[in-house]
Amino acid sequence: MNRPFNFSAGPAAIPEEVLQTAAAEMLDWHGSGMGVMEMSHRGKEFISIYEAAEADLRELLAVPAHFKILFMQGGGIAENAIVPMNLSRAGVVDFVVTGSWSQKSAKEAAKYASDANVAASAKDSDYTTIPAASSWNLSRGASYVHICSNETIHGVEFHELPDLQALGSDAPLVIDFSSHVASRSIDWSRVGLAFGGAQKNIGPAGLTIVIVREDLLGHALPVCPSAFDYKTVADNGSMYNTPPTWGIYMAGLTFQWLKRQTEGGLSGVAAMEARNITKAKLFYDYVDQSSLYVNKVAANCRSRMNIPFFLHDESRNDAFLAGAKQAGLLQLKGHKSVGGMRASIYNAMPIEGVQALVDYMRDFEQRQA
Ligand SMILES: *Cc1c(COP(=O)(O)O)cnc(C)c1O
Repeated sequence: MNRPFNFSAGPAAIPEEVLQTAAAEMLDWHGSGMGVMEMSHRGKEFISIYEAAEADLRELLAVPAHFKILFMQGGGIAENAIVPMNLSRAGVVDFVVTGSWSQKSAKEAAKYASDANVAASAKDSDYTTIPAASSWNLSRGASYVHICSNETIHGVEFHELPDLQALGSDAPLVIDFSSHVASRSIDWSRVGLAFGGAQKNIGPAGLTIVIVREDLLGHALPVCPSAFDYKTVADNGSMYNTPPTWGIYMAGLTFQWLKRQTEGGLSGVAAMEARNITKAKLFYDYVDQSSLYVNKVAANCRSRMNIPFFLHDESRNDAFLAGAKQAGLLQLKGHKSVGGMRASIYNAMPIEGVQALVDYMRDFEQRQA
């Protein structure tokens, strides 16, 4: 079967091999006589799936031993409340607002923190830049500093995580890595907590991954639901309540797929990162020399995962999308708040898919001439 290339921002394309394995195991997982969705989360079959998924994620992302990996529910948006309920200590928290997602996070945190301070904002540039870390107005004694390390809607990515200590802050850094987790390596020495929904780069919607430094556990506000208290979740191996078993299984298959990936002598996430750099360069290089298309994000913070782009002549948008669909290139419509188009090229998008998109765009451009 020749499947089209799917550029959805999320829920997004899943590697075909992962879908095929899940299909083959749907009715009977490894001779157990049960499908994964039908298993007790406390049975030995599912426990083995869970433990392998956690160990593989820890290996792939090189997560140090003093961080806990939690499998939760609620998505990135629930984490916008769960993080301040666990980490704010009802004090001041700092936000660097680089797009829709960090803006949403700041707004929600204000319900739990005494102040959700916007330490820096890229609003003046319509979220096409990242303010230099040296210009951030960090609060003294902040409980944490929050960034969205890849802004899925505005297409802005931190290519280096800020070193808060070098900026004179002891606060832990919180990153929302929903839309670029496992696309690149992470410097854990700069991170206190990372969270992300699975449906962009890891698997189906319904699973949320939280990776948190141990010393940050145990400070939840009284209002925090037990099922969302990181310490309770950690102490119970993510099984205080029933975890999203299907999502964990699918994520585990994706992690195994990731471990098999190689690129120029690299493997796993390093291989993905090399491939993602190649894919993004192929796309941006084409757009930058084109006279029909434009991407407005500053070169030093362009996302490798989510690329918003515009036709200079916006009246051609519908024709562009209809032709793309006919060419087997799906879900390219931009987010309604930004308009235009958006190509999300997560790990599961092969180079061939990006090449097919560029070929279509070139062809469309020539037909306009
Ligand atoms: C998609 C996304 C979210 C929201 O995830 P939900 O699962 O809808 O809660 C949050 N942050 C970022 C960066 C995202 O890309």
